[in-house]
Amino acid sequence: MAESTELQARETIHAGGEWRAAVSGATREILDPADALPFAVVAEGDEKDTDLAIAAARRAFDEGPWPHTPVTERAALLRRVADLLVRDREKLGLLEARDAGKTVEEGRVDIDCVADAFRYFADLVAGEAPGRVVDAGSPDIHSVVVHEPIGVCAMITPWNYPLLQASWKIAPALAAGNTFVVKPSEITPMTTIALIDLLVEAGLPAGVANIVTGPGHSVGARLSEHPDVDLVSFTGGLVSGTKVAQAAAPTVKKVALELGGKNPNVVFADACATEEGFDTAVDQALNAAFIHSGQVCSAGARLIIEESVRDRFVAELARRAEKIRLGRGTEEGVECGPLVSEQQRAKVEMYVESALKEGAVLRSGGKRPAPSPQRPENGYFYEPTVLDHCHREMRVVREEVFGPVLTVETFRTEDEAVALANDTEYGLAGGVWTADPGRARRVAGRLRHGTIWINDFHPYLPQAEWGGFGKSGVGRELGPAGLAEYRETKHVYQNLAPKPVRWFAG
Ligand code: NAD
Repeated sequence: MAESTELQARETIHAGGEWRAAVSGATREILDPADALPFAVVAEGDEKDTDLAIAAARRAFDEGPWPHTPVTERAALLRRVADLLVRDREKLGLLEARDAGKTVEEGRVDIDCVADAFRYFADLVAGEAPGRVVDAGSPDIHSVVVHEPIGVCAMITPWNYPLLQASWKIAPALAAGNTFVVKPSEITPMTTIALIDLLVEAGLPAGVANIVTGPGHSVGARLSEHPDVDLVSFTGGLVSGTKVAQAAAPTVKKVALELGGKNPNVVFADACATEEGFDTAVDQALNAAFIHSGQVCSAGARLIIEESVRDRFVAELARRAEKIRLGRGTEEGVECGPLVSEQQRAKVEMYVESALKEGAVLRSGGKRPAPSPQRPENGYFYEPTVLDHCHREMRVVREEVFGPVLTVETFRTEDEAVALANDTEYGLAGGVWTADPGRARRVAGRLRHGTIWINDFHPYLPQAEWGGFGKSGVGRELGPAGLAEYRETKHVYQNLAPKPVRWFAG
């Protein structure tokens, strides 16, 4: 802990254009999950700081210029932000890698995707018609449907893709003319703080962008319940998401939820009929489950494979999983970083233990790796784990583990594959591997998940909506629907030749 006392606490609460410490003076150390040592100290805000930030956002919305700024100027500002992100790509990529326990390359890709989100929403609003004229059936009626900003937006984000998840909310909210208060995860706030600096540098008026660093039970809960907040957009786990929706209900604010997933990766034997097909399906199953140590909402954590190819497929998968190079994300040659926290690793260990008790067969991993020069002893590392002979009654198959754990289930028929893949309370994403295009379309059509990948896993496009069926959430991010979340719809009906209606005799 000697190092922590040397770190300077940064003022990380931004309200009404000013950087401030927490009203209470409280601070929090931010740990590097690769060695559990603090590398930054931030303000630990609470309800009082949240109220100040909401008041600033409210004033900026009700009295400030941003909601009325011409759309071309708003789009130009978003594009400037994208350029600044590109300028700072190296610095921000490294910061994200350190904070969330990613490889630096993953951190850089995240920043590219953040810049893409700003550009996409800039282009989307700049290219829109100002309103939709409705044919009222009379030349005397001019009827138009317009979109207006919804108001003050609260945004609550998780630790796995800290800046990317924030950008899917901030970019459309700003494009639509809103003001906002963002609360990043208390354990990974660093890049969201840095983004606020970039928004200021790009010329956003004071009070439009506000941030409160602090915990969910105080800052997050206050944002969700506050009467001056018009929308709360949350990305995180099912339990916290449910609390947000409950806290928001009495004020009837709009709620958008991006929650977890228990995502199937369905592999038909025909996808493995050639050596090339087999190699690709194994490689992508590995990527689906283990990228960012499986701490991905859309991780393909359930391999559902046709029985006839299971043994060969799982043996090869386990062989490659054993070879994944774990270590600090900034070290040369490292392919996978640690889990984000001690708590997260303990959760993963609990699930693996329970699976083995319930009869799963361990094919790889299942333990912490030995320390090495690339892997400090105190880092939260866990080996990529393949659990064979799993079935749908097991907790590890039903619940989101959010770690490097892949379960294997088998099927014999297409109907069985679909039934297994849909047998989850979640519905975020799923993959289908087959060489038969007819089957690919059929199965994709029957899967109850928000994104379906055919012969691929994980890519997303800013132009295409992202979100979940079932308990994976409410609403969509990205695409036109991701912009619509941040708007009110208004119908303006103008009578050009008003006359009495004589409904009442008078
Ligand atoms: P989490 O639910 O623990 O925390 C998410 C955020 O909510 C944090 O900022 C936290 O401080 C805050 N929070 C906690 N309790 C709260 C409360 N009572 N009221 C308001 N806010 C509260 O989730 P996490 O562990 O940070 O992230 C992992 C989860 O996020 C996983 O379930 C993952 O699937 C999900 N996720 C979903 C998507 C998606 O696009 N659907 C993307 C990324 C992550």
